[in-house]
Amino acid sequence: MMRSLEFEALLDISARVGADPLLVQGAGGNTSIKELGTLWIKASGLWLAQARQRDVMVPVALDPLLDALDRNDPACEKAQDFVISEMNPSGLRPSIETTVHALMPQKVVIHVHCVETIATAVQTNGAAIAAERLAGISHVFVPYARPGLPLARAIAERMQEKTAVLVLGNHGLAVAAETVADAAILLTDVSRRLTVQRRAAPAADLAALSRLAVNSGYSLPDDIRLHAVATDLESCRIAAGGSLYPDHVIFLGKGCVIAAPDETAVSIETTRRDRGESLPPLLLFPGKGVLVEKGISAGALAMARCLADVTARIPASGRLRYLSDAENAELLGWDAEKYRQKLNRAGQALQ
Ligand SMILES: [Zn+2]
Repeated sequence: MMRSLEFEALLDISARVGADPLLVQGAGGNTSIKELGTLWIKASGLWLAQARQRDVMVPVALDPLLDALDRNDPACEKAQDFVISEMNPSGLRPSIETTVHALMPQKVVIHVHCVETIATAVQTNGAAIAAERLAGISHVFVPYARPGLPLARAIAERMQEKTAVLVLGNHGLAVAAETVADAAILLTDVSRRLTVQRRAAPAADLAALSRLAVNSGYSLPDDIRLHAVATDLESCRIAAGGSLYPDHVIFLGKGCVIAAPDETAVSIETTRRDRGESLPPLLLFPGKGVLVEKGISAGALAMARCLADVTARIPASGRLRYLSDAENAELLGWDAEKYRQKLNRAGQALQ
């Protein structure tokens, strides 16, 4: 198949955006382009960072999907029914966020889990902050709704004709333009405007962490930036409050496990096994740093880094909207997300 120059440009920006952990973590985020009635969207569970190494784009029939959205057809939930199979030889599934892209009328859409945006979008006054910083840019703040049909409905209710930017509460950012180049400029502009001062975190106590890991299924992460969420006590307090965005829940579980002063990795393992609870991929030791489960998935590792990056950007005085118990449960019980988790465990996203 001959690809257009714009399609090629989209693959380039996808790989670039996907390689920036401040914009995209693991299989999160997605890009799309609308050409001749087909919406080409990143496949579910694959990493944008791989956009130049393998086939990551899935063709979806745009008008039938939009019609189904109008009818509130549950088939929009996964958008799988709208894939043009004869143009999809690899059998990829479309992103669970396909409807976000379909609802924006512009040709090119870039959706990212930009940490600067998330740090704003988790605050109870996130809409007001966005309004002030994005003055002059046609944007809409969409309060949190579960990705899939609920988010699509929330967007459809608020979209205006010229809306080019969606700030998604407790989630991230979508920008849209008629060309890849303009979408890239808009993305840079918006994330720059939402940039805030990051709190510097004290260094991790690696010796103490090594002792805390002894005989356990946990070890020190290779990336020392992960520790900031625990060594900075303000970030640790924020993380202790619960889950702030969907991919955290999907890849790290509900909330965070914070060790009490007398706990070690082994004692946490024992307590949780006794209670019949699963073991968390990440343990936070306040003031010391973090330990990660040996064999932690690449997706979970990326989300651990994201947690450090997001919490460091949330002001200590910020009032936060955490995901409710029901919102956590709905994410963990959701079929479409189970597919993504399965791909993550299988390590298909690693290559
Ligand atoms: Zn998203």
